Amino acid sequence: MDLDRIRTMIREKLESGQLPPEKCLITWFGPGSGQRCVACEGVIGPQEIECECEHPRRELLRFHQTCFAAWDAERQAIRV
Ligand SMILES: [Zn+2]
Repeated sequence: MDLDRIRTMIREKLESGQLPPEKCLITWFGPGSGQRCVACEGVIGPQEIECECEHPRRELLRFHQTCFAAWDAERQAIRV
């Protein structure tokens, strides 16, 4: 999936509340464990980098590394 498409999905999820606008408390990076990414809804395979985010209001969020970076940028862009 291309990055523009991912950014659009993330922006929609931020607007609808499916993704939170707050920063994560703790983040970990590691190999994917076959779980779904909360941003693009794709599976994070073992050959990809998964980012786990412990969030103050939500259960653990899992992202692809690239989706996490996109969420982090979009989240800050809407909080102006
Ligand atoms: Zn993703």
